[in-house]
Amino acid sequence: MIHESVCPRCGEPSPLGLCDRCRLGMAVLLQTPDAVEVTACPVCGSHLVRGRWQKGDKPIEDLISDAVAGEIRVHQDLLDPEISISVNKKNPTQYRVTVTLSGEFGEIPAEEERTVAATVRRPTCERCSRMAGRYYEATVQVRGSAGAPAPEALEECRKIAERATETSFERGDRLSFIQETKVVKGGIDLVVGSTQQGRSIARAIHDRFGGSSRESYKLVGAKDGKNIHRTSILVRLPRLKAGDLIRARGAFLEVRGFEGKRTACRSLLDGNRVYLSNEEAEDVLVVGNRSSAERGVVVAADRNVLEFLDPVSYRTVSASRPALLTAGVGDEVEFLRFRGELLLLPPTERIEGIERS
Ligand SMILES: [Zn+2]
Ligand SMILES: [Zn+2]
Repeated sequence: MIHESVCPRCGEPSPLGLCDRCRLGMAVLLQTPDAVEVTACPVCGSHLVRGRWQKGDKPIEDLISDAVAGEIRVHQDLLDPEISISVNKKNPTQYRVTVTLSGEFGEIPAEEERTVAATVRRPTCERCSRMAGRYYEATVQVRGSAGAPAPEALEECRKIAERATETSFERGDRLSFIQETKVVKGGIDLVVGSTQQGRSIARAIHDRFGGSSRESYKLVGAKDGKNIHRTSILVRLPRLKAGDLIRARGAFLEVRGFEGKRTACRSLLDGNRVYLSNEEAEDVLVVGNRSSAERGVVVAADRNVLEFLDPVSYRTVSASRPALLTAGVGDEVEFLRFRGELLLLPPTERIEGIERS
């Protein structure tokens, strides 16, 4: 006699107790919440996650879909589960979400569907309301050290400020925004939402240009028993900028960049690295900048001297060869004029060390 295992529930053959069909009939394959709530700012698209505003510009449907997906539970015995979520708008604040699950339960294909009601709340986030309310904590004042900085330098500072603002915001400083950029006598004023953000702007400008900054505070009132301060961060751009050819320590030096409070230079002739303090940098003689260098073609060359065609006089002129300049006859070289002298510049890419972006 063959002893056949049967399902105790339905009597069908089943090797191990309950058959798949009966187990499936009793199992809950898909669990979803009945309702979810999504909160997103109508101005900037940031949304609230566990009480914190997060940056983003996802469509509201995606936020709803994510919120539902985050709370779905699938039966552990379902093989190859596939979930699809569709979001349908009923009205501006109410959505209906359909979640469909399919997979294999034992040998049997299985499918289950649930609907979830989604409510959308659209309050203006703290950041957008502060921006609209013209809130600010600090002003970053960008100035030169002798007269206003060049317009290009100010334009670059403005871009640096935008990037630093974006970075602070991404790192969680919700008040990181530029309320206003004012062109003022001597430079620009950046009115910013957070003091921390203002400091990172100052740091980013110094990383690029060197220079120094000074912070001061003003008490502007009190709210809920706490004093309210406004911070001014005065950023002084140094006189020198990268690419400047200067006369210092008895040599011609090219400014390469800034490392903390030091100005990093290269000696034109021997290529040695030289660092100047802030005080030294303020006093040096500026010969010119690489950006305004002229070009000439080499007609004769030896180890120490290059002869090249002066594009102005069309005469052959000669100048000392910088150690890092390998140009030979027929090559084009860059030079600056200084008090009747011609100063050849080494090519930028041959100078290792501090390169600026
Ligand atoms: Zn059964
Ligand atoms: Zn917002």
